[in-house]
Amino acid sequence: MFQRDISPVCYKLHLPILSSLFEGLHKPAISIGKSVNGSPLWVVEISDKPGQREAEPAFKFIGNVHGDEPVGREVLMQLAYWLCDNYLKDPLATLIVENTHLHILPTLNPDGFALRRRGNANNIDLNRDFPDQFFPINDDINYRQPETRAIMSWIKQEHFTASATLHGGALVANYPWDGSRDKRKQYYGCPDDKAFRYMASVYSQSHYNMSLSKEFRGGITNGALWYPIYGGMQDWNYIHGGCFELTLEISDVKWPKASELLVIWKQNKMSMLNLVASLVKTGVHGRIFAADTGRPIPGSLMVKGIDSKISASRTFGDYHRILAPGESYEVVASMEGFTPKRTRIMLEREAMNLDFILDPDGTNAQTKPLPNDCGCDDGIKPFLIREAYLWLYLLVLFFLLALYLLFRRRISSRLARNPPKRPVAI
Ligand SMILES: [Zn+2]
Repeated sequence: MFQRDISPVCYKLHLPILSSLFEGLHKPAISIGKSVNGSPLWVVEISDKPGQREAEPAFKFIGNVHGDEPVGREVLMQLAYWLCDNYLKDPLATLIVENTHLHILPTLNPDGFALRRRGNANNIDLNRDFPDQFFPINDDINYRQPETRAIMSWIKQEHFTASATLHGGALVANYPWDGSRDKRKQYYGCPDDKAFRYMASVYSQSHYNMSLSKEFRGGITNGALWYPIYGGMQDWNYIHGGCFELTLEISDVKWPKASELLVIWKQNKMSMLNLVASLVKTGVHGRIFAADTGRPIPGSLMVKGIDSKISASRTFGDYHRILAPGESYEVVASMEGFTPKRTRIMLEREAMNLDFILDPDGTNAQTKPLPNDCGCDDGIKPFLIREAYLWLYLLVLFFLLALYLLFRRRISSRLARNPPKRPVAI
């Protein structure tokens, strides 16, 4: 397993052992799938309630997407150790553990790592293996690599707010889009360009020297401007998972000496912590409820002028919207069968809490049951049925009252015929 003191004998990993070290702060490492050669893709979740659903944002870190870029996996192991060691000692560690669910997948490409090469065991570049928005790459699930399929099904299971993949070979925080429609190398921003630039800046500004880059202004770059790629993981996350993902290049050298890993960890530590903590410290958060039942509903949240939407969770109806601070936004919550609600907010540096209570739409509410937490079919009964029940209750009540009066009359007449005997004094 990874050495705690980063000794020169590094670049070794054994996550099941990691899982026995931090009792309570994470659930045992789980495998989200297997590589081509059958290695489990281990994930450890760090939280004060690991494995449980909470109305909190979830973040994921993925390392070693490219087999020959091992720094990410080593740094992620350090992050896991540090968080568990410093919970209730360090305010940032405590904030992250108590207010987020952090999922860490140190190596997505264990086969490529073993072979010391970029691609997986089939020599496929996993960061070109996702369905692409501009070109029909890998639209057929049967042609995707098992590592890619594992990530895609994981994102469908977990409700991630944001994520980052760690790479090596440069020093920059890269944000969507990664490709452009005409394949030209140019700035090609996604609808949430401002929010992504803010996220990338949180990373670069907290880094030891990333923001001082001579190549990339502020240490951040739009993917298509740097070099366009297609079939990347980052864009797919944003489009299909509603998950704001960055691609972080954290070391100019792909295979640094093991003795340098501790330095690289220290240089990236505050960036990693601040990026995860930004999910709690900034942005707009809240829950969406149905006005008639008071129950949480998995509605959607949109911001006027930004062509993207994020969804609230099914269990708690909670949403977590990353937005660049210091701006005014018109926020709209909606859900099929309900009347949308909108409000204008001024988002400062701090996070804002904003709950929505949606009124059922008159026509749809009578015909469409409300989805519920368990997904079972016990939706809200239409109003007419509830009214019929009310009349039935009143009828039964009237019948019981009549029975009671009749019974009382019979008792009193019997008492009149047989008066109780007087006590006898001896
Ligand atoms: Zn890479």
